[in-house]
Amino acid sequence: MGLHKGPRLLDLAKTPQHLQFNKYVLTGYRPVATAPECLGSLFYMHNELGNIYTHGVPFFLFLVLLPFSIPWMEVDSVWLCVVHYLACLCPTVGSVVYHVFMNHVGGEHVYDTLLSLDMFGVCLVNTLGRSSMLIGSAVLMFCEEGNTNILRLQAFLWQAGFRFSLFLFRVFGSGAGSPDSLRLFVIMDSLAVLGGLVNIVQIPERFVPGLFDNWGNSHQIMHVMVICSIVYLHWGTLEDLAWMKTYQCPADAGRPSSSLHFRTSAQSSSELLSSSGSDRSAMGKRKMAATPLS
Ligand SMILES: [Zn+2]
Repeated sequence: MGLHKGPRLLDLAKTPQHLQFNKYVLTGYRPVATAPECLGSLFYMHNELGNIYTHGVPFFLFLVLLPFSIPWMEVDSVWLCVVHYLACLCPTVGSVVYHVFMNHVGGEHVYDTLLSLDMFGVCLVNTLGRSSMLIGSAVLMFCEEGNTNILRLQAFLWQAGFRFSLFLFRVFGSGAGSPDSLRLFVIMDSLAVLGGLVNIVQIPERFVPGLFDNWGNSHQIMHVMVICSIVYLHWGTLEDLAWMKTYQCPADAGRPSSSLHFRTSAQSSSELLSSSGSDRSAMGKRKMAATPLS
């Protein structure tokens, strides 16, 4: 960076108590600052800059590029696409705001609010992305306030457990969805949980305190894994949307075949898959198995 010099940075011992959450990051702390000064910190080096940009850059990439691969007009339930788009954007927005303003002069109260916002964004991608338990997740998050990394992981694990039950339902029960998307969602959750664990054990900075103050520390590794997790969510959702277009309710389900309210067309699924980079042959088999709606 180095566009301008910035204020004199602080060591760990000199920074406010509520910002001392990683004892292996020894230097590079910003002093308390006003909102404009926090924004100004986007342009000089400090130990939160990597955290800001590892989510800030993907946010703009998702904002601009995702709409091109989301099949807005291919499904009747456009709201599914809207929810998915927002779910992909929310965690990066909350995270960037948290990391930019965490040293705000408002102190611990502002910090706790921003941390809740950060966690809320991740809860949104976990819930909007795969379930309708948004309210339950938000309640859990605000009740526990997420003051520690362990509480943060607990909130995510709770959601991951819920989604795991959905996986079991889809595999062994009468749940539905693309068979291929299941694999992608498992990878998505694995990456998210693994990132949370790395953040808790504080590796690699634990082994060489001070060496990873600005770049390469556990929180930045977690950020990258969260981004990869969102990408897998996106690919999995595209698979499911493609599957929905060819799916027909079983004849013995006692419902008309249009009960899912998804448009079915002969050519659509392969187009969707081409944008998700998925296995075309697998989709071909599903298209053959599915009976076209009349
Ligand atoms: Zn973060």
